[in-house]
Amino acid sequence: MPHPETWLKVTPSGLFCEPGGFYVDPLRAVDRAVVTHAHSDHARPGHRAVLASEATLALMRTRMGDEQAGLMQQTAAWGERVRIGEVTLWLEPAGHVLGSAQVAMEWRGSRVVVSGDYKRAADPTTPGFVVIPCDVFVTEATFALPVFHHPRPESEIARLLESVALFPERTHVVGCYSLGKCQRLVALLRAAGWDAPLYLHGAHMALCETYEALGVPLGDLRPATVAGKDALVGAIVLAPPSAVADRWARRLAEPVVCAASGWMRVRQRAKQGGVELPLVISDHAGWDELNATLDEVAAPEVWVTHGREEALIHAAAKRGIRGRALRLLGYGEEEA
Ligand SMILES: [Zn+2]
Ligand SMILES: [Zn+2]
Repeated sequence: MPHPETWLKVTPSGLFCEPGGFYVDPLRAVDRAVVTHAHSDHARPGHRAVLASEATLALMRTRMGDEQAGLMQQTAAWGERVRIGEVTLWLEPAGHVLGSAQVAMEWRGSRVVVSGDYKRAADPTTPGFVVIPCDVFVTEATFALPVFHHPRPESEIARLLESVALFPERTHVVGCYSLGKCQRLVALLRAAGWDAPLYLHGAHMALCETYEALGVPLGDLRPATVAGKDALVGAIVLAPPSAVADRWARRLAEPVVCAASGWMRVRQRAKQGGVELPLVISDHAGWDELNATLDEVAAPEVWVTHGREEALIHAAAKRGIRGRALRLLGYGEEEA
């Protein structure tokens, strides 16, 4: 059985599967790409052929237009086997954002799974992570430090709603990524009983429409920019992290600046961003989830694409798992 190092290679364009002739989440435009999910650091524009889940391709088209999403677009259903060159490939859910997939590849009896970004916590807007046993598991390590323990998102949403009840004359503006986090927050708020309209920054609106078209109901969403100031008193507004701290937010009624991110675990980050109410809600696996996943996929070897690889590789080594840092530059900024 050939070792995966001999057929899955780190190149300046990203991970290249030689016997298949394709890249996984290439960092620049290539001839043939397999894309795990539609965040901008993984889904780059301008590839010739793109294979991805149906939802990922739909979200890519919303973000970059039909042509930039791939001249040839091929979807694969969960678990559907696809032959590319000499390689058999299939996708399984990664639980990160809608459409997010792990890429499983087999060549001559050796199996590699590239997880892309993933989480293990339940998320009403996306199917949950599926464990695929493999010879090499390629993982992210965004939050691979023991300090990154993510609380239950429901309890963070409860804190937000408590604050809204406490300050009914103010507008709560929540900084969140436009793909994934925004829709998850909406769904969590609906599940917590918030039926009132939610107001969105323009950047968030189009992706919410695509989520709804893909069968994820989000309720009454309205553009914050056209809403009168009075309508926003006591309301919740969702906006990109870059917008909450600037002029855009200042037109709101005495805004309470909130942010929903795994990084809100780090007090310094919240302070720097002027965040009054930090909500620790992450779409990436925390320390416990990362380690549990390594145990469950039972791969003798783990490759770490980006993030805090030292701690994860050290923890893996203690359990007899060989670790390798790929140091792929270019991942990590989801909304670059
Ligand atoms: Zn991502
Ligand atoms: Zn990423």
